[in-house]
Amino acid sequence: MISAGPTARRRAALRALLPAVDGGAGVDALLVSDLVNIRYLTGFTGSNAALLVHADGDAASRFCTDGRYRTQAAAQVPDLETVIDRASALALAAQVFAPGVRRLGFESDAVTVDAHDALAAAAEGVALHRAPGLVQRLRAVKDAGEVEALRRACAVGDAALADLLAAGGLRAGRTEREVAHDLEERMRAHGADGPAFATILAAGAHSAVPHHRPTDTELRRGDLVKLDFGALVEGYHSDMTRTVVLGPAAGWQRELHALVAQAQAAGRAALAPGAETRAVDAAARGVVERAGRGEEFVHGLGHGVGLQIHEAPALGKTATDVLAAGMVVTVEPGVYEAGRGGVRIEDTLVVHDDGPELLTHTARELLEV
Ligand code: ZN
Ligand code: ZN
Repeated sequence: MISAGPTARRRAALRALLPAVDGGAGVDALLVSDLVNIRYLTGFTGSNAALLVHADGDAASRFCTDGRYRTQAAAQVPDLETVIDRASALALAAQVFAPGVRRLGFESDAVTVDAHDALAAAAEGVALHRAPGLVQRLRAVKDAGEVEALRRACAVGDAALADLLAAGGLRAGRTEREVAHDLEERMRAHGADGPAFATILAAGAHSAVPHHRPTDTELRRGDLVKLDFGALVEGYHSDMTRTVVLGPAAGWQRELHALVAQAQAAGRAALAPGAETRAVDAAARGVVERAGRGEEFVHGLGHGVGLQIHEAPALGKTATDVLAAGMVVTVEPGVYEAGRGGVRIEDTLVVHDDGPELLTHTARELLEV
Protein backbone atom coordinates (compact mmCIF):
# COMPACT_ATOMS: atom_id res chain seq x y z
CA MET A 1 0.00 0.00 0.00
CA ILE A 2 1.31 3.43 -0.95
CA SER A 3 1.59 5.92 1.92
CA ALA A 4 -0.62 9.01 1.78
CA GLY A 5 0.83 11.38 -0.81
CA PRO A 6 -0.54 14.78 -1.78
CA THR A 7 -3.37 13.36 -3.91
CA ALA A 8 -4.60 11.07 -1.12
CA ARG A 9 -4.54 14.03 1.28
CA ARG A 10 -6.57 16.07 -1.22
CA ARG A 11 -9.17 13.32 -1.56
CA ALA A 12 -9.43 13.18 2.24
CA ALA A 13 -9.97 16.96 2.32
CA LEU A 14 -12.67 16.62 -0.34
CA ARG A 15 -14.36 13.86 1.66
CA ALA A 16 -14.60 16.27 4.60
CA LEU A 17 -16.72 18.59 2.43
CA LEU A 18 -19.27 15.95 1.39
CA PRO A 19 -21.53 16.25 4.48
CA ALA A 20 -22.19 19.92 3.60
CA VAL A 21 -23.50 19.20 0.08
CA ASP A 22 -27.21 19.80 -0.60
CA GLY A 23 -27.67 22.24 2.24
CA GLY A 24 -26.14 19.91 4.81
CA ALA A 25 -28.01 16.76 3.82
CA GLY A 26 -24.71 15.37 2.48
CA VAL A 27 -23.95 12.78 -0.20
CA ASP A 28 -22.56 9.26 -0.06
CA ALA A 29 -20.12 9.93 -2.90
CA LEU A 30 -19.05 12.63 -5.35
CA LEU A 31 -18.63 11.96 -9.07
CA VAL A 32 -15.77 14.18 -10.32
CA SER A 33 -15.89 14.85 -14.08
CA ASP A 34 -13.68 17.93 -14.50
CA LEU A 35 -10.30 16.76 -15.84
CA VAL A 36 -8.31 19.44 -14.01
CA ASN A 37 -9.99 18.48 -10.75
CA ILE A 38 -9.27 14.82 -11.51
CA ARG A 39 -5.60 15.66 -12.10
CA TYR A 40 -5.51 17.50 -8.76
CA LEU A 41 -7.10 14.57 -6.92
CA THR A 42 -5.24 11.71 -8.62
CA GLY A 43 -2.26 12.96 -10.64
CA PHE A 44 -3.82 11.61 -13.86
CA THR A 45 -3.04 13.74 -16.94
CA GLY A 46 -5.00 11.95 -19.68
CA SER A 47 -7.92 13.35 -21.67
CA ASN A 48 -10.74 11.05 -20.54
CA ALA A 49 -11.47 10.07 -16.96
CA ALA A 50 -13.93 10.18 -14.10
CA LEU A 51 -13.43 9.76 -10.39
CA LEU A 52 -15.87 8.56 -7.76
CA VAL A 53 -14.80 9.84 -4.34
CA HIS A 54 -16.69 7.76 -1.81
CA ALA A 55 -17.39 9.11 1.69
CA ASP A 56 -16.18 5.81 3.18
CA GLY A 57 -12.62 6.29 1.90
CA ASP A 58 -10.26 5.42 -0.93
CA ALA A 59 -10.99 1.69 -0.70
CA ALA A 60 -14.58 2.37 -1.75
CA SER A 61 -13.59 5.02 -4.35
CA ARG A 62 -13.01 4.32 -8.04
CA PHE A 63 -11.05 5.84 -10.89
CA CYS A 64 -12.10 5.26 -14.50
CA THR A 65 -10.45 5.90 -17.85
CA ASP A 66 -10.42 4.18 -21.25
CA GLY A 67 -8.10 1.57 -22.74
CA ARG A 68 -5.68 4.08 -24.26
CA TYR A 69 -4.64 5.09 -20.74
CA ARG A 70 -4.42 1.66 -19.06
CA THR A 71 -0.63 1.88 -18.62
CA GLN A 72 -0.62 5.56 -17.75
CA ALA A 73 -3.36 5.11 -15.16
CA ALA A 74 -1.47 2.26 -13.50
CA ALA A 75 1.58 4.54 -13.19
CA GLN A 76 -0.17 7.78 -12.21
CA VAL A 77 -3.05 6.43 -10.10
CA PRO A 78 -1.66 3.31 -8.40
CA ASP A 79 -3.57 3.92 -5.17
CA LEU A 80 -7.17 3.66 -6.48
CA GLU A 81 -9.05 0.76 -8.00
CA THR A 82 -9.28 1.53 -11.71
CA VAL A 83 -12.16 0.70 -14.02
CA ILE A 84 -11.42 0.71 -17.78
CA ASP A 85 -14.40 1.99 -19.73
CA ARG A 86 -14.70 4.58 -22.50
CA ALA A 87 -17.85 6.11 -20.94
CA SER A 88 -15.99 6.89 -17.72
CA ALA A 89 -18.59 8.91 -15.84
CA LEU A 90 -21.43 6.57 -16.75
CA ALA A 91 -19.41 3.51 -15.77
CA LEU A 92 -18.74 5.02 -12.35
CA ALA A 93 -22.33 6.15 -11.93
CA ALA A 94 -23.26 2.50 -12.28
CA GLN A 95 -20.84 1.74 -9.41
CA VAL A 96 -23.04 3.65 -7.00
CA PHE A 97 -25.33 0.65 -6.82
CA ALA A 98 -22.89 -0.46 -4.17
CA PRO A 99 -24.74 -0.97 -0.87
CA GLY A 100 -25.48 2.18 1.06
CA VAL A 101 -25.09 4.67 -1.80
CA ARG A 102 -28.35 6.54 -2.24
CA ARG A 103 -27.19 10.11 -2.72
CA LEU A 104 -24.62 10.99 -5.40
CA GLY A 105 -23.08 14.44 -5.76
CA PHE A 106 -21.96 15.61 -9.21
CA GLU A 107 -20.08 18.65 -10.52
CA SER A 108 -23.02 20.62 -11.84
CA ASP A 109 -20.59 23.31 -13.05
CA ALA A 110 -18.76 20.79 -15.28
CA VAL A 111 -21.49 18.41 -16.51
CA THR A 112 -23.58 19.21 -19.59
CA VAL A 113 -27.35 18.85 -19.53
CA ASP A 114 -27.09 15.83 -21.82
CA ALA A 115 -24.44 14.22 -19.62
CA HIS A 116 -26.61 14.85 -16.58
CA ASP A 117 -29.55 13.09 -18.17
CA ALA A 118 -27.35 10.14 -19.10
CA LEU A 119 -26.02 10.01 -15.54
CA ALA A 120 -29.52 10.06 -14.10
CA ALA A 121 -30.42 7.12 -16.33
CA ALA A 122 -27.25 5.16 -15.46
CA ALA A 123 -27.69 5.76 -11.74
CA GLU A 124 -31.38 4.97 -11.68
CA GLY A 125 -32.75 4.89 -8.15
CA VAL A 126 -29.91 7.08 -6.87
CA ALA A 127 -30.60 10.76 -6.19
CA LEU A 128 -28.24 13.20 -7.97
CA HIS A 129 -27.28 16.35 -6.07
CA ARG A 130 -25.52 19.42 -7.40
CA ALA A 131 -22.07 19.93 -5.86
CA PRO A 132 -20.33 22.71 -7.82
CA GLY A 133 -16.92 24.14 -7.01
CA LEU A 134 -15.89 21.81 -4.18
CA VAL A 135 -12.55 20.82 -5.68
CA GLN A 136 -11.95 24.36 -6.95
CA ARG A 137 -12.30 25.56 -3.35
CA LEU A 138 -9.60 23.12 -2.24
CA ARG A 139 -7.38 23.99 -5.21
CA ALA A 140 -7.39 27.68 -4.25
CA VAL A 141 -5.09 26.92 -1.30
CA LYS A 142 -1.84 25.46 -2.57
CA ASP A 143 0.24 22.86 -0.76
CA ALA A 144 4.02 23.11 -0.55
CA GLY A 145 4.62 21.05 -3.69
CA GLU A 146 2.27 23.23 -5.71
CA VAL A 147 3.89 26.45 -4.50
CA GLU A 148 7.25 24.98 -5.51
CA ALA A 149 5.97 24.21 -9.02
CA LEU A 150 4.55 27.74 -9.31
CA ARG A 151 7.84 29.17 -8.07
CA ARG A 152 9.67 27.27 -10.81
CA ALA A 153 7.18 28.39 -13.47
CA CYS A 154 7.54 32.02 -12.41
CA ALA A 155 11.34 31.73 -12.40
CA VAL A 156 11.21 30.50 -16.00
CA GLY A 157 9.20 33.59 -16.96
CA ASP A 158 11.66 35.90 -15.23
CA ALA A 159 14.63 34.19 -16.88
CA ALA A 160 13.07 34.24 -20.35
CA LEU A 161 12.33 37.97 -20.18
CA ALA A 162 15.83 38.71 -18.89
CA ASP A 163 17.26 36.72 -21.82
CA LEU A 164 15.06 38.52 -24.32
CA LEU A 165 16.17 41.92 -23.04
CA ALA A 166 19.86 40.93 -22.83
CA ALA A 167 19.77 39.66 -26.41
CA GLY A 168 18.24 42.91 -27.65
CA GLY A 169 15.15 40.97 -28.67
CA LEU A 170 12.85 43.83 -27.81
CA ARG A 171 13.65 46.43 -30.47
CA ALA A 172 12.11 48.62 -33.11
CA GLY A 173 11.50 46.85 -36.43
CA ARG A 174 10.55 43.45 -34.99
CA THR A 175 6.88 42.51 -35.12
CA GLU A 176 4.70 41.75 -32.11
CA ARG A 177 4.42 38.19 -33.38
CA GLU A 178 8.20 37.75 -33.68
CA VAL A 179 8.84 39.00 -30.17
CA ALA A 180 6.05 36.85 -28.72
CA HIS A 181 7.46 33.70 -30.39
CA ASP A 182 10.97 34.63 -29.27
CA LEU A 183 9.81 34.95 -25.66
CA GLU A 184 7.95 31.63 -25.83
CA GLU A 185 11.03 29.89 -27.25
CA ARG A 186 13.14 31.27 -24.44
CA MET A 187 10.64 29.93 -21.87
CA ARG A 188 10.96 26.48 -23.45
CA ALA A 189 14.75 26.78 -23.37
CA HIS A 190 14.48 27.37 -19.62
CA GLY A 191 12.43 24.21 -19.11
CA ALA A 192 8.81 25.23 -19.74
CA ASP A 193 6.56 22.64 -21.39
CA GLY A 194 5.15 25.60 -23.28
CA PRO A 195 3.58 28.98 -22.69
CA ALA A 196 0.94 29.11 -19.94
CA PHE A 197 -1.38 30.92 -22.38
CA ALA A 198 -1.12 32.74 -25.70
CA THR A 199 1.46 35.45 -25.06
CA ILE A 200 0.10 39.00 -25.15
CA LEU A 201 2.57 41.28 -26.90
CA ALA A 202 1.08 44.70 -27.55
CA ALA A 203 2.97 47.71 -28.93
CA GLY A 204 1.97 51.35 -29.23
CA ALA A 205 -1.79 51.91 -29.33
CA HIS A 206 -2.29 48.12 -29.09
CA SER A 207 -1.04 48.31 -25.49
CA ALA A 208 -4.39 49.94 -24.64
CA VAL A 209 -6.19 46.70 -25.58
CA PRO A 210 -6.07 44.53 -22.42
CA HIS A 211 -5.97 41.15 -24.22
CA HIS A 212 -4.46 42.12 -27.57
CA ARG A 213 -3.29 39.21 -29.74
CA PRO A 214 0.14 39.75 -31.36
CA THR A 215 0.04 40.90 -35.00
CA ASP A 216 2.56 41.66 -37.74
CA THR A 217 2.70 45.28 -36.53
CA GLU A 218 6.30 46.42 -36.09
CA LEU A 219 7.51 47.86 -32.81
CA ARG A 220 8.52 51.51 -33.13
CA ARG A 221 10.76 53.77 -31.06
CA GLY A 222 8.66 55.55 -28.43
CA ASP A 223 6.12 52.72 -28.16
CA LEU A 224 4.80 51.42 -24.89
CA VAL A 225 5.21 47.63 -25.17
CA LYS A 226 3.11 45.43 -22.91
CA LEU A 227 4.24 41.82 -22.38
CA ASP A 228 1.82 39.51 -20.54
CA PHE A 229 3.09 35.95 -20.53
CA GLY A 230 3.76 32.87 -18.46
CA ALA A 231 5.35 29.43 -18.44
CA LEU A 232 3.76 26.03 -18.00
CA VAL A 233 5.82 23.82 -15.67
CA GLU A 234 4.60 20.46 -14.31
CA GLY A 235 1.04 21.49 -15.09
CA TYR A 236 1.32 24.78 -13.18
CA HIS A 237 1.06 28.22 -14.81
CA SER A 238 2.97 31.41 -14.21
CA ASP A 239 1.62 34.85 -15.07
CA MET A 240 3.43 38.18 -15.25
CA THR A 241 2.98 41.47 -17.09
CA ARG A 242 5.53 44.19 -17.63
CA THR A 243 5.10 47.32 -19.74
CA VAL A 244 8.29 48.91 -21.10
CA VAL A 245 9.09 51.82 -23.41
CA LEU A 246 11.25 51.53 -26.51
CA GLY A 247 13.67 54.39 -25.98
CA PRO A 248 13.23 57.33 -23.60
CA ALA A 249 9.74 57.53 -22.06
CA ALA A 250 7.47 60.51 -22.77
CA GLY A 251 5.98 62.36 -19.81
CA TRP A 252 2.51 60.82 -20.21
CA GLN A 253 4.01 57.31 -20.40
CA ARG A 254 6.00 57.89 -17.24
CA GLU A 255 2.91 59.24 -15.42
CA LEU A 256 0.74 56.35 -16.54
CA HIS A 257 3.33 53.81 -15.45
CA ALA A 258 3.83 55.50 -12.07
CA LEU A 259 0.08 55.50 -11.42
CA VAL A 260 -0.30 51.80 -12.24
CA ALA A 261 2.80 50.94 -10.20
CA GLN A 262 1.32 52.77 -7.21
CA ALA A 263 -2.01 50.95 -7.61
CA GLN A 264 -0.23 47.63 -7.97
CA ALA A 265 1.82 48.21 -4.80
CA ALA A 266 -1.39 49.06 -2.91
CA GLY A 267 -3.02 45.87 -4.15
CA ARG A 268 -0.04 43.74 -3.18
CA ALA A 269 0.07 45.34 0.27
CA ALA A 270 -3.60 44.46 0.83
CA LEU A 271 -3.00 40.72 0.36
CA ALA A 272 -3.49 39.03 3.73
CA PRO A 273 -5.32 36.01 5.12
CA GLY A 274 -8.88 37.01 5.97
CA ALA A 275 -8.98 39.92 3.51
CA GLU A 276 -12.01 40.06 1.25
CA THR A 277 -10.80 39.94 -2.34
CA ARG A 278 -13.22 42.76 -3.15
CA ALA A 279 -11.34 44.93 -0.61
CA VAL A 280 -7.99 44.04 -2.19
CA ASP A 281 -9.39 45.13 -5.55
CA ALA A 282 -10.65 48.35 -3.96
CA ALA A 283 -7.24 49.11 -2.46
CA ALA A 284 -5.67 49.18 -5.91
CA ARG A 285 -8.66 50.59 -7.77
CA GLY A 286 -8.95 53.47 -5.30
CA VAL A 287 -5.50 54.73 -6.34
CA VAL A 288 -6.60 54.83 -9.99
CA GLU A 289 -9.98 56.36 -9.16
CA ARG A 290 -8.45 59.13 -7.04
CA ALA A 291 -6.34 60.01 -10.09
CA GLY A 292 -9.61 60.40 -12.01
CA ARG A 293 -8.90 57.39 -14.24
CA GLY A 294 -11.16 54.72 -12.76
CA GLU A 295 -13.03 54.38 -16.08
CA GLU A 296 -9.81 53.29 -17.77
CA PHE A 297 -9.21 50.36 -15.37
CA VAL A 298 -11.60 48.04 -17.15
CA HIS A 299 -11.00 44.64 -15.53
CA GLY A 300 -10.64 42.93 -12.17
CA LEU A 301 -7.47 43.21 -10.12
CA GLY A 302 -6.41 39.60 -10.36
CA HIS A 303 -7.12 35.90 -10.09
CA GLY A 304 -5.93 32.69 -8.56
CA VAL A 305 -3.41 30.72 -10.61
CA GLY A 306 -2.37 27.08 -10.45
CA LEU A 307 -3.34 24.07 -12.58
CA GLN A 308 -5.34 26.64 -14.59
CA ILE A 309 -4.26 30.11 -15.58
CA HIS A 310 -7.47 31.54 -14.14
CA GLU A 311 -8.92 29.85 -11.08
CA ALA A 312 -10.33 30.70 -7.66
CA PRO A 313 -10.16 33.10 -5.95
CA ALA A 314 -11.27 36.07 -8.06
CA LEU A 315 -10.07 39.56 -7.14
CA GLY A 316 -12.57 42.08 -8.47
CA LYS A 317 -15.24 44.66 -7.74
CA THR A 318 -17.99 42.07 -7.28
CA ALA A 319 -15.84 39.18 -5.98
CA THR A 320 -17.01 37.40 -2.85
CA ASP A 321 -13.93 35.34 -1.98
CA VAL A 322 -11.86 35.69 1.19
CA LEU A 323 -8.10 35.19 1.09
CA ALA A 324 -6.40 32.43 3.05
CA ALA A 325 -2.76 31.60 3.66
CA GLY A 326 -1.43 29.46 0.81
CA MET A 327 -3.53 31.04 -1.92
CA VAL A 328 -1.56 32.08 -5.00
CA VAL A 329 -2.98 35.09 -6.83
CA THR A 330 -2.06 37.73 -9.38
CA VAL A 331 -2.24 41.47 -8.81
CA GLU A 332 -2.56 43.19 -12.18
CA PRO A 333 -4.10 46.63 -12.38
CA GLY A 334 -4.06 48.35 -15.76
CA VAL A 335 -4.94 51.76 -17.11
CA TYR A 336 -5.72 51.93 -20.80
CA GLU A 337 -5.89 55.12 -22.83
CA ALA A 338 -7.76 54.07 -25.97
CA GLY A 339 -5.94 54.84 -29.21
CA ARG A 340 -2.76 55.90 -27.40
CA GLY A 341 -1.42 53.28 -25.04
CA GLY A 342 -1.90 51.41 -21.81
CA VAL A 343 0.11 50.06 -18.90
CA ARG A 344 -0.46 46.90 -16.88
CA ILE A 345 1.85 45.55 -14.19
CA GLU A 346 1.23 42.03 -12.97
CA ASP A 347 2.87 39.83 -10.39
CA THR A 348 2.06 36.42 -8.96
CA LEU A 349 2.20 36.15 -5.18
CA VAL A 350 1.62 33.67 -2.37
CA VAL A 351 -0.56 34.85 0.53
CA HIS A 352 1.15 34.24 3.88
CA ASP A 353 0.35 35.22 7.48
CA ASP A 354 3.45 37.40 7.64
CA GLY A 355 2.92 39.17 4.30
CA PRO A 356 2.71 38.18 0.64
CA GLU A 357 5.62 36.50 -1.13
CA LEU A 358 6.42 37.51 -4.70
CA LEU A 359 7.01 34.60 -7.08
CA THR A 360 7.71 36.88 -10.06
CA HIS A 361 10.87 38.89 -9.51
CA THR A 362 11.46 40.98 -12.65
CA ALA A 363 11.92 44.65 -11.66
CA ARG A 364 8.74 46.71 -11.58
CA GLU A 365 10.33 50.09 -12.37
CA LEU A 366 9.66 51.58 -15.80
CA LEU A 367 12.20 50.08 -18.15
CA GLU A 368 13.40 52.15 -21.12
CA VAL A 369 14.80 49.62 -23.60
ZN1 ZN B 1 -1.16 37.91 -17.22
ZN1 ZN C 1 -3.30 37.32 -15.02
